[in-house]
Amino acid sequence: MLTPPDSVRSRNMAAIKAKDTKPEWLVRRMLHAAGFRYRLHVKDLPGRPDLVFPSRRKVIFVNGCFWHGHDCARGRPKAKTNAKFWSDKIAGNRARDARNAAALKKAGWRVLTIWQCQLNKAGLTARLAKFLDR
Ligand SMILES: [Zn+2]
Repeated sequence: MLTPPDSVRSRNMAAIKAKDTKPEWLVRRMLHAAGFRYRLHVKDLPGRPDLVFPSRRKVIFVNGCFWHGHDCARGRPKAKTNAKFWSDKIAGNRARDARNAAALKKAGWRVLTIWQCQLNKAGLTARLAKFLDR
């Protein structure tokens, strides 16, 4: 259910992490069109998952490839300057993502991560529906 506080919060989040926001919107639109309802950025869950399906006890993260260190063309840093800084920073993000996913799983949540580079690939809707058991 999309309640007003969540939509306000999601606008705030959009301002904060603009890089990750567009991919997230695509996934949200896709799920909404397929009839799924969800909560956004639930604060009291580890990592504040992008989409939360409380009754199914499932969460979805929509990750930007660069910031979350995906092993793909977009995920590899292009800049040679401050290479160490960025690789440390991204390694930190990856470690944090892994900790959050482990904490969620331990608490009985199932976790799906959708990467930015996967958004325009055929079959994403089917993959989402399969994860959500429908
Ligand atoms: Zn990627």
